[in-house]
Amino acid sequence: MNARTLIIATLIALGLSSGMLYLGSNLKIGSAPTDEEAQHEFRRTAIDKLNLSRASLALDDLQLDEELQKWLDGRLIIVTGEHSTVDPKTLLDELPDSVSTLSSAAVRTVVAKGTEGIMKQLDFWSDGFDPDASLVAMRLFEADRGRVGCVLIAADRAPQFSISLLNDGVTEFYNVCRHCNEPHLGNLAKVDLALAVGCPHCGRTYDLLAADMLGRYRRANAYLEGSRPPPGVGADAEDRLGEMVALWTAVVEHCRYAKDLSGLSGEKDSWQRPSETYSFRNGDCEDTALLLADWLISRGFNARVAIGNAVGEGGHAWCVVELEGRQYILETTLAKTSKVPPETQLVASRYRPHYLFDRQSLYFLDGQLGDIADYFSPDLWDALAYQNSPVPDDGLGDDTAIPLAGSTVEP
Ligand SMILES: [Zn+2]
Repeated sequence: MNARTLIIATLIALGLSSGMLYLGSNLKIGSAPTDEEAQHEFRRTAIDKLNLSRASLALDDLQLDEELQKWLDGRLIIVTGEHSTVDPKTLLDELPDSVSTLSSAAVRTVVAKGTEGIMKQLDFWSDGFDPDASLVAMRLFEADRGRVGCVLIAADRAPQFSISLLNDGVTEFYNVCRHCNEPHLGNLAKVDLALAVGCPHCGRTYDLLAADMLGRYRRANAYLEGSRPPPGVGADAEDRLGEMVALWTAVVEHCRYAKDLSGLSGEKDSWQRPSETYSFRNGDCEDTALLLADWLISRGFNARVAIGNAVGEGGHAWCVVELEGRQYILETTLAKTSKVPPETQLVASRYRPHYLFDRQSLYFLDGQLGDIADYFSPDLWDALAYQNSPVPDDGLGDDTAIPLAGSTVEP
């Protein structure tokens, strides 16, 4: 893995600052000219009418967005109480804080002599709106000089992040941070083969994805698929330390180190599954670290894969094991293993872990990067459980692994 591999592709909050559209002049909002039942009826008729013209243009039907409508209704009631004058830009500025899963939104106002006049102007409403924005909300209001106004919002929602959608080429998502539970929008258009997903609210990383040899993304811990070492390896070891060293030596001797081995997709730095590394007999640092960690875990060792930097080498991956109160660094890119691997505190200035994972969890440093000698302390490492069902041969891990606990954004 070279230094470029682990690009921190923080999912950046898009806000709604790009691609939005301000139309209409300042909007004086007074009390609604009609009751809620009439508002409802107007919306139904207006959406039907708009959909008729959209059908002739082969556009998807507009749909009333309940959450957006509720927000708009609430917003206007507040404004009415304050006798404020608001313009569409004000509405748009307030929108993303309230309805955070929108990927785009536009507001337009129409003013006419009566609701019939509004209805006639709807034909021109979609001019200038993104035709893909198919979620709408609208509300009538009493405009000046006895006229009636309608505020219309057209919006688009980003889908919730899933690995399947990413592999299908979707690049814009919303996701919920596993640390602070805040939903945020993000764009994974500029993807590298290994992605650490970060949160714009708390600034922390909460997910780790990597592309396999076919260029398909999997969660990092889904690569620990349950490979077992050949039964004879370490069978005659005198103790657990001896068994650990035997497994380490077996991986180092079995695999040639192939830096930047190209995957079948022609991309560099794809991750190989342990079974692939074993059958190819080569791989780069993360490939062999994955194979060794998988073998160790299958034998009951408390092992993790570490992703980070090695001084002088840039981006790197290695294996770490906690055994009988000691922690060992198992470097799998060596030509030859030693009798006993170094304990972590001896090489803490050379190995700088950023992320760890085992089969159940991803671990993120709770604090500053620096010399880390303890790879297993829950005080230092926040564990985020990402359950992966056993990976089938063509599986991509469990796609439903991102829980929505604490999310308030699901409609
Ligand atoms: Zn967060």
